[in-house]
Amino acid sequence: MLKYVNFDIVFQEIPDEVTLAVNISNCPNRCPGCHSPWLREDIGDLLTASAIDGMIGPYLGDITCVCFMGGDGDPGEVARIAAHVKDTYPKDEELDKPGIKTAWYSGCAELPKGFDLKYLDFVKLGPYIESLGGLKSPSTNQKLFRIVPVEDQSGPTQGKTEEEISPDGRYRMVRMAMPRNFLE
Ligand code: SF4
Repeated sequence: MLKYVNFDIVFQEIPDEVTLAVNISNCPNRCPGCHSPWLREDIGDLLTASAIDGMIGPYLGDITCVCFMGGDGDPGEVARIAAHVKDTYPKDEELDKPGIKTAWYSGCAELPKGFDLKYLDFVKLGPYIESLGGLKSPSTNQKLFRIVPVEDQSGPTQGKTEEEISPDGRYRMVRMAMPRNFLE
């Protein structure tokens, strides 16, 4: 079960995407100097498929990505809602519809054991360390990855600084560099 506090349309969390960012509560992490301590509380409304549809509806055609900000308390549910987004708003080349991409901002250093990246296009990993700053800080420890099936060797290379293979061996995790104008 996941709960969300609010959502916003943002431009800098995922490069080149117009993103509907959903702030998820009940964060189980305890990063010293936490930038959003209210997100550690059990507050907000249930994040269901119909709730996410309600958020997307007014912005359909404008947003290109949905990003789950948090959700480490129930990663399986993050994957399930991401699957709903991908299934409900798919890419259709014949109709020239790009589909809605999905992203997950986790506060953990690694993917949960057995986590399936199938329905995610982007993942951010790494706890928040106040002295290093968030993803937009040049000194950050956090990493943003583009997720690409291993068989897809034509995947994104622009802005690539490094890549690794997911623990299940099924996906390339291509490190994304944050554009210079995004950096703090
Ligand atoms: S993951 Fe984010 S919300 Fe959770 S404790 Fe760390 S900084 Fe706070």
